[in-house]
Amino acid sequence: MSVEFSDLTCERCDLVTEHELHYAGRLLESVRCTRCGHRVMLSHQALLPAYLHDLEHRVASKPQRMYRRAARDPLAFLVGLPLAVVRQPTKFARELWSLVRR
Ligand SMILES: [Zn+2]
Repeated sequence: MSVEFSDLTCERCDLVTEHELHYAGRLLESVRCTRCGHRVMLSHQALLPAYLHDLEHRVASKPQRMYRRAARDPLAFLVGLPLAVVRQPTKFARELWSLVRR
């Protein structure tokens, strides 16, 4: 799960406020106003099929993305590869769990 920030209009505050954007993978899971705490969750019934579709695309495009990274900076790629490989199952499990736990 990753968090980004953006200024959006809060429907409770009726003001433009800073919001936390919570992502599961590349899919927006929820939006939370940092001023009042109002949270809007996206339906997991809608997110799960979209997440699985996105995951399929990510897995299919992974070799090409790895090749580009290796071509851009071979040493950093080789040094980071073992840790990146070890992290993948945990990363996917955490993303999936964030969708189904609700
Ligand atoms: Zn608010």
